[in-house]
Amino acid sequence: MSQYILTIDAGTTSERAILFDHDAQIKEIVQKDINQIYPHPGWVEHDPNEIWSTQLNTLKELMVRKKLEAEAIAAIGITNQRETTIVWDRNTGEPVYNAIVWQDRRTADYCESLKEKGLLESIQNKTGLLLDAYFSASKIRWILDNVDGAQQKAERGDLAFGTVDSWIIWQLTQGEVHVSDVSNSSRTMLFNIHSLEWDEELLSIFNIPKKMLPIVKSSSEIVGYTSLLGGQIPIGGVAGDQQAALFGHMCVSPGMCKNTYGTGCFAMLNTGEKIVKSKNMLLSTIAWKIGNRVTYALEGSIFIGGAIVQWLRDNLKIIDTAPEIETLALSVDSSDGVVFVPGFVGLGAPHWDPYSTGTLIGLTRGTENGHIARAALEAIALQSMEVLQTMAEDSGIEISQLHVDGGASLNNLLMQLQADLSRLSIVRPVVNETTAMGAAFLAGLAVKFWSDETELMQYWKQDASFHPSDSDYDQVKTNWFKGVERSKGWNKK
Ligand code: ADP
Repeated sequence: MSQYILTIDAGTTSERAILFDHDAQIKEIVQKDINQIYPHPGWVEHDPNEIWSTQLNTLKELMVRKKLEAEAIAAIGITNQRETTIVWDRNTGEPVYNAIVWQDRRTADYCESLKEKGLLESIQNKTGLLLDAYFSASKIRWILDNVDGAQQKAERGDLAFGTVDSWIIWQLTQGEVHVSDVSNSSRTMLFNIHSLEWDEELLSIFNIPKKMLPIVKSSSEIVGYTSLLGGQIPIGGVAGDQQAALFGHMCVSPGMCKNTYGTGCFAMLNTGEKIVKSKNMLLSTIAWKIGNRVTYALEGSIFIGGAIVQWLRDNLKIIDTAPEIETLALSVDSSDGVVFVPGFVGLGAPHWDPYSTGTLIGLTRGTENGHIARAALEAIALQSMEVLQTMAEDSGIEISQLHVDGGASLNNLLMQLQADLSRLSIVRPVVNETTAMGAAFLAGLAVKFWSDETELMQYWKQDASFHPSDSDYDQVKTNWFKGVERSKGWNKK
């Protein structure tokens, strides 16, 4: 009798294997970092062979540590860094170039040139995405343009493209299966989120041969089997990391919303069967497909969330560890007019200003470290507040409750600030590994390890909740909006 679901979490900085039992309790985690390759400013790559060998090692180590036979695993679920682009040779299985990571900006000018051709509107209508270098299409184009003979090989059908899920499934099945799921496909900028097909017109704009592309599956079905861990284990669930987190929170009804407070913040609102087109530069995306039902979501990404805390720790050195920020911020009653706009890498949703820089403003002779710490936490919550407000405006959905996860969600002061600023209730789960849990749920459903979503709901357990208090943050908000305006465009030549 199979007792476990094994999740693969192929993240941006590490590969992890996580074992869940039938009560959705984590029984083991094995994590190994992968190298970040920065060949030029603005370029970020990973070695696809390293991604795979590291991932396989985590899986094998977990099986050994827990003394498991393959029969103990009911299914494997996969969640992954999204948009990251891998092109490999179908005949040899060798990548033709490093993985170009979602953060990589090398194709920004190319995307700009497509905007100048007036393609933004039609691309947004078909894919729900903004015309930006983050998504896979321009990265594939770059590889086909820059690797000798790649375009011809692709046209002959000798090359395969995949996001990281696709690459891992190809490896797990030893080259038998070339698939992806709808949530990952919806981030490539080649996938029509209305028709759920690769879009001929987009393929032609980017000049990408259809033969390269994986077959698109739902997020919860058996897509293949692996025999690399002993006997045969089905691969049953696949979703991009943010979508998996939404599912892990069991935000399965329209109007349910989650925000992940990691390095950046990623908010996602379930919009049900409806594709909500954003007027405010949010993304419309596929959350998941289970059976024949497709669920859509609105997404807003904030580039710097918990990373502002890292910056105070590593650069200003006013704290030794990230959690210390809470004590420091509580040493004062307010941020006392200090505003910290963390535009270190530009601003993401809803501003999308690549020329913004970090801006610390409102300083006086009375300003202390505590005020800066508090302004930093407020900045995480204020940015999230803006994204959540925008989501509500775009969708017409009133968001009353927010599910949270990620390292910085453990900060109680930050969560209370979020409840006060956004005037909504916040619920934080016991299991903070919501992303991995979502992938486990999708895989478990596919093999009837769990029967349905109603059963899964009982496994989401609340750790804490936060509700709006009487505190007045009107001045903080006013200062923030002024600060954001000062920060915007700062780097523009
Ligand atoms: P990621 O998955 O993006 O690597 P994590 O979910 O592991 O991120 O969260 C790590 C981030 O959260 C770091 O940027 C760190 O500074 C921040 N962080 C961790 N603990 C706290 C805390 N108690 N308060 C505020 N920020 C925190």
